[in-house]
Amino acid sequence: MGTARNRRPADLPAPGSGLGVRGRRHRRLPLDLQPPSRAATDPTVAALTGGPALIWGTINRSESLRGTRHTSAGDLVQQAGALLTRWSPWLTEHVSASDLERVAAFRFRAANPSGPIADWTPRSVTGLGDAIHAMPPTGGRGASTAICDAADLVDAITEHLDGAPLHSALARYQRSISPRARAAIRESLGPVRVINALRHRPAQALARPLLSVAGAWGQRRYRGTP
Ligand SMILES: Cc1cc2nc3c(=O)[nH]c(=O)nc-3n(C[C@H](O)[C@H](O)[C@H](O)COP(=O)(O)OP(=O)(O)OC[C@H]3O[C@@H](n4cnc5c(N)ncnc54)[C@H](O)[C@@H]3O)c2cc1C
Repeated sequence: MGTARNRRPADLPAPGSGLGVRGRRHRRLPLDLQPPSRAATDPTVAALTGGPALIWGTINRSESLRGTRHTSAGDLVQQAGALLTRWSPWLTEHVSASDLERVAAFRFRAANPSGPIADWTPRSVTGLGDAIHAMPPTGGRGASTAICDAADLVDAITEHLDGAPLHSALARYQRSISPRARAAIRESLGPVRVINALRHRPAQALARPLLSVAGAWGQRRYRGTP
C-alpha cells in the first residue's frame, strides 16, 4: 500500500472514487482519490493530511510476493510494479513514484465472527478496536467499529463514575461490542472470499466480462461528475 502525492493524472475519472478492476489473475488495485474540492479546510487537519493524494494498494496471495515482513519499501514498490506489468502505464508510473515513507505491506487478520468476542470477565482491564476484533480493511469498518467501542466505553466509565460497580459497567460495555464487531468482521470478509474465489482460472473467465461491465458503468458514473 502506498501514496503518490499531487500526481493525479489528467486521464483519471473526475475526483471521486476510482476502482481498478482489471488485472491478470487475482491481482487488483484499489484506488482512492482525494479531490482538492474535498480537501480539509481546517489548517490543523490540512497540515496533517497534506495535499491531494493517490492512495493505492495491491491485494495479493502471499505466495505471489517475495516477502513482506523485512522487505524495504523500495522492494515492495518494485514487487507491486512487477505485479502490475499488464495494467495501464499511468498506474505503474504512479506506483513507482510513491513516497517510500508511506509504503508498507501487511497481512490480513480477522477474528472469528462466530467465536467469542470480548467475553472475558472484566475486572479493571478491558480492550477495544482491533486488539479484540481484528478484521481486514476490505470492509472499511475497522476504525469506525473501534470508535463506536470507544464511545460505549466512555458511557461505561461515566456509569461507573456515577456509582455503578466497575465490573458491571465494563460487562455491559463488553456485551455491546459483539453484535457490532461480528457484523463488521463478516462484511469485511466478504470481499476476501471473492478475492480468494477469483484465484481460480474458471472464476476469472466468468468474472472478467462482469468486471468490464462494472468498470464501464463506473466510468460513466464518475467521469465528469463534480
Ligand atoms: C490499509 C488500511 C486501510 C483501512 N481502511 C479503513 C477504512 O477505510 N475505514 C475504517 O473504518 N477502517 C479502516 N482500516 C482499519 C483501521 O485502520 C483500524 O481498524 C483502526 O485503526 C483500529 O483502531 P485501534 O485503535 O483499535 O488500533 P490502532 O489504530 O492500531 O491503534 C493501536 C495503537 O496502539 C499502539 N501500540 C501497540 N502496541 C503498543 C504498546 N505495547 N505500547 C504502546 N502503544 C502500543 C500502536 O502503535 C497504535 O498506535 C484500515 C486499515 C488499513 C491497514
